[in-house]
Amino acid sequence: MLLTELTSITGIDLETTFRALQVIVGPERVSITQADRLQHACDQSSHAEHLPDLVVWPQTTTEVSAILAYANTVRLPVTAWGAGTSLEGNPVPVQGGIVLDFQRMNQILAVHAADFQVTVQPGMLYKDMNKTLARHGLFFAPDPGANASIGGMVANNAAGIRTVKHGATRDNVLALEVVLANGEVLRTGARSVKQSAGYDLTHLFVGSEGTLGIVTEATLKLAPLPEHFSAVIAAFPTVEIAAEVVFAIIGSGLEPTALELLDSQALTVLNSEADFDLTVAPTLFMEFSGASEASLAEELVLVEAICREHDVQSFQAGIGREARNRLWQARHRFFETSQRYYRGYAYLLTDVAVPISQFPALVAAANQIMARLNCQGTIIGHAGDGNLHTAIFFPPGDDEARAHAAQVNDHLVERALALGGTCTGEHGVGLGKQKYMLAEHGPVALNLMRQLKATLDPNGILNPGKVLAW
Ligand SMILES: Cc1cc2nc3c(=O)[nH]c(=O)nc-3n(C[C@H](O)[C@H](O)[C@H](O)COP(=O)(O)OP(=O)(O)OC[C@H]3O[C@@H](n4cnc5c(N)ncnc54)[C@H](O)[C@@H]3O)c2cc1C
Repeated sequence: MLLTELTSITGIDLETTFRALQVIVGPERVSITQADRLQHACDQSSHAEHLPDLVVWPQTTTEVSAILAYANTVRLPVTAWGAGTSLEGNPVPVQGGIVLDFQRMNQILAVHAADFQVTVQPGMLYKDMNKTLARHGLFFAPDPGANASIGGMVANNAAGIRTVKHGATRDNVLALEVVLANGEVLRTGARSVKQSAGYDLTHLFVGSEGTLGIVTEATLKLAPLPEHFSAVIAAFPTVEIAAEVVFAIIGSGLEPTALELLDSQALTVLNSEADFDLTVAPTLFMEFSGASEASLAEELVLVEAICREHDVQSFQAGIGREARNRLWQARHRFFETSQRYYRGYAYLLTDVAVPISQFPALVAAANQIMARLNCQGTIIGHAGDGNLHTAIFFPPGDDEARAHAAQVNDHLVERALALGGTCTGEHGVGLGKQKYMLAEHGPVALNLMRQLKATLDPNGILNPGKVLAW
């Protein structure tokens, strides 16, 4: 394509910008092709796509700094891109400009095995990182299922099935290197686990969705790989009872390494793939890990007793890696399996979280509202940390069904806030949750957030249109 044929989305002088970026990163790592722009126009959510003007693949912090300094001078939007697996429109470049794709900054810089830490570049995919770390008997515990990048996980404060035991990404970030909107580079935090020196800038950037600064390096806490596992699949008469069991298990002092809830429809979806034949009923998937098989066997006795007290319909427990791998293979494939099951349908994913004592009430509310509005879909959740998702599927042209899905989202957020929770447990604010920020935080906190944004990014170039766009 000739540069003179290009039209800019933002109204910038594309030719000048293209040439300026080529000077910074060389001719091979800037693109204006339609194919590259399309690949960076949408994430895995149902939010509408928006093309960036250009895509750049930086390789060093110095390049990131020079790109931001340039973009800040000409007031050009810059949106960071990890693996594009977000579920709330977080990396969609809604105002065009530059997408900074971190695919080529994907190195492990240091494994501090004795301290259970790793320092990595942001484009490192966490599954790849964990394969390397396994050689040291270590792993990074937050596990969002999709093969997300560390930069994207830090920026979204991603969590997942291991959060119940190991915390979310935020709990596992010790230090960052961040490039500010004007190109200045700063280092936050330290490698010591305890840190008490001044304001906590590290955790200001975690969860900020690339709106306050661009992460170019992260030092993360690791956990030792457990040697012994047990896995449990337990089915219950109702989804509300299954949710009560979650509360009972956490309340009993047991420490599952994962505790996931799936409603009956989710089991139907899972069974639709050839190799599953699970009881179609509200079900808990649980994993425990320990120092010995004997200690796991003791834990399983207690887990079974709790489940039996709650009218468990089927209880399958297995000790060993194979039983555990099969369980998570099913759970991790759930999103893809659902998309195949509801082929051709549009979808809306919800994501709310509440204190664990309120989880049964939240599940009951989700069940009722989905039934009342006749929504098709599933209820699943990282139940052990009070995080609930519904996935609502509807024919793309059915406006009434789409409106009902949006109502479920509104209703669940309202319930979660009333129960002391949040409008998003792990997917972030992105595009879809901005309308709930005032209700969750109140005007004073929001005003402070706006002031922080204005201080760190006075020209509003970093991922504009996200988190606090109004
Ligand atoms: C099947 C499936 C299952 C999922 N399950 C979970 C789950 O269980 N838990 C969960 O938390 N999420 C889950 N997700 C959502 C997603 O994987 C996470 O939000 C993840 O953190 C996104 O990472 P990414 O690398 O794809 O980032 P992207 O989607 O590319 O970007 C995410 C955000 O980070 C910003 N960003 C990216 N890199 C940087 C950087 N270097 N510096 C600053 N900002 C940056 C982007 O601008 C954007 O705002 C799931 C997604 C899918 C498709």
